[in-house]
Amino acid sequence: MISIKFLGTGTVMGVPIWNCECDVCKSTDKKDKRYRSSLLVKINEKNIIIDFGQDFRNQLIENNIKKIDYAFLTHAHRDHYGGVENLATAENVIFMAPKDVLEEFNELQGSSKEWLTTRNKTITVKEFSPFSIDDISIETVKLEHKKDWGADVPCYGYIFSSNNFKFAYMSDFNKILEIEKLQNCDLIISDGNGLNNKGHGHVGIHGSIEIFKILKPKKMILTHLTHKMLHKDVSNYVKKYGNIDIAYDGMELKL
Ligand SMILES: [Zn+2]
Ligand SMILES: [Zn+2]
Ligand SMILES: [Zn+2]
Repeated sequence: MISIKFLGTGTVMGVPIWNCECDVCKSTDKKDKRYRSSLLVKINEKNIIIDFGQDFRNQLIENNIKKIDYAFLTHAHRDHYGGVENLATAENVIFMAPKDVLEEFNELQGSSKEWLTTRNKTITVKEFSPFSIDDISIETVKLEHKKDWGADVPCYGYIFSSNNFKFAYMSDFNKILEIEKLQNCDLIISDGNGLNNKGHGHVGIHGSIEIFKILKPKKMILTHLTHKMLHKDVSNYVKKYGNIDIAYDGMELKL
C-alpha cells in the first residue's frame, strides 16, 4: 500500500506572502494557503518525508505525523531544508540525499554541521543510493535547477516504482538531466512555479505541460505554486492540456 499527501505546495515565500495584498494572498479558499513544498509518502507502515522547509514543524503537528522513517532532501535551498531541526525529535530517522546535495547542505550549515550526527544519535545521515521498501524501489532522477544569473545547486527528484505503478516527485527544476528514467510513469509530480518561469531555475507550468506531452504519464500534478493565480483558475487552465491537476496542501492520493 502506498499513498502520498502534500504537506506543502508553495514556493520559497509560501502563500499568502507576508505583506502582499494580491487576490491570491487575500483569498479565503483553503486551497490558496500554501506551506513550503513537502511530500509525505507512506509505504505500508513506513513514512518518508521529501523535503522539510521552514514550515515543517507546523506540517508535522497539523497532519498529526507521529514518526518519520526516512527524510529525503531534493536540494539545499532553505525552503526545502529550513526545518531540519525538527528531525531531532523523530525517534529514529534516516536522513538521505545524494552525495553532492549532502555536501552542499553541510557547507551551508557552517559550524552547525555536526549537529545532525553528534548531538542527535537518533538521526542517521546517509548518502542516497537506490534501495527498496517492501516491493517498492526508490531511485533518484538528476535535475538542473539553475538560475540565469549563475546560481546553481545539485538537485534531484525521487522515483518510486513497483510492478503495478511508477511515480516521480520533482518540485524544483528547469531541466531533467535523466529523462530516460521517467518513461511509463503513472504519475509525475512536477514544477508549477509560475506560468512561464524561464531563467529562474524552474520550468513552471508551461514547461511542465511540455514535459507532460513528451513523457505522457497517466497523470501529472503540479506543485511549488506561486501567488500569481488562484487555485481554481490555474486548475481549470491546466485541465485543457490533459490529466493535469494543481496540488494543494492536504491533497491525498492512494496509488
Ligand atoms: Zn500575493
Ligand atoms: Zn529550489
Ligand atoms: Zn523550492
